Amino acid sequence: MKNVLCVDLEDWYNANLANGIDKACAEDRVVENTKILLSIFREAQIHCTFFVLGCIAEKYPELILRIKQDGHEIASHGYAHQLIYDQTKEEFRQDIRKAKQILESIIHIPVESYRAPSWSIREETFWALEILQEEGFKNDSSIFPFRNFLYGVSGAPRFIYSTQIYSQKSFMKEFPPSTVRICGINIPFSGGFYFRFLPFWFVSGCIRALNRKGHACIMYIHPWEIDMDTPRISLPFRDRFIQYWGIRRCRSKLVKLVTSFAFVPMNEME
Ligand SMILES: [Zn+2]
Repeated sequence: MKNVLCVDLEDWYNANLANGIDKACAEDRVVENTKILLSIFREAQIHCTFFVLGCIAEKYPELILRIKQDGHEIASHGYAHQLIYDQTKEEFRQDIRKAKQILESIIHIPVESYRAPSWSIREETFWALEILQEEGFKNDSSIFPFRNFLYGVSGAPRFIYSTQIYSQKSFMKEFPPSTVRICGINIPFSGGFYFRFLPFWFVSGCIRALNRKGHACIMYIHPWEIDMDTPRISLPFRDRFIQYWGIRRCRSKLVKLVTSFAFVPMNEME
């Protein structure tokens, strides 16, 4: 069974919880961390989808070329990692257009998959699906079927579906991050804090359970999550927990993941 592993390609200071820090003075660590990810994926002989932030591509075009040369899909994570529900429709259109142009000027093939910063397509921003369609995207992975303080749409489908259910003029393929249903509740496990927090036996059990029912698992990771020396900034307790929990063990967990399951890029899923 083929699954999808995505990398949200951004630096540690692009995460929305790190919003208060001065990005101009922050140390860039994304290139080294991404090279480590690439070597892990090469070793495991898997290919992934890299949702690249436009401002990172602009700064490090050779990194993006290297990812493409390794056979991975280059996709868009927008330009500046601004939450969609904090933008107007026009600002959103300009952000995704700019990022797409930068990426396509580097790789010279169309960029067709998109993921919103911090899964920020919620009920009030379903209009983004129509704009993404108009701007030439075919795949989206921005609607988290679990609602929390930052993101998510409760009751959203858990498996690959058409965005037409939320927007008449949009017919992209939607790839929701995988969840497991326990006692009628969708429990996230497939990336970010959830992947770092949960033991590997639980995560791998969830993937096997989905695969047994014929569903691909959609997983995700950020380069800074495998960086044991990621700069620690002062954050309120909840945000510190979400941002840093499990980073020490994350790299070895990722190696176990990619050597235990088969992964293909999003644009290669049937
Ligand atoms: Zn992101």
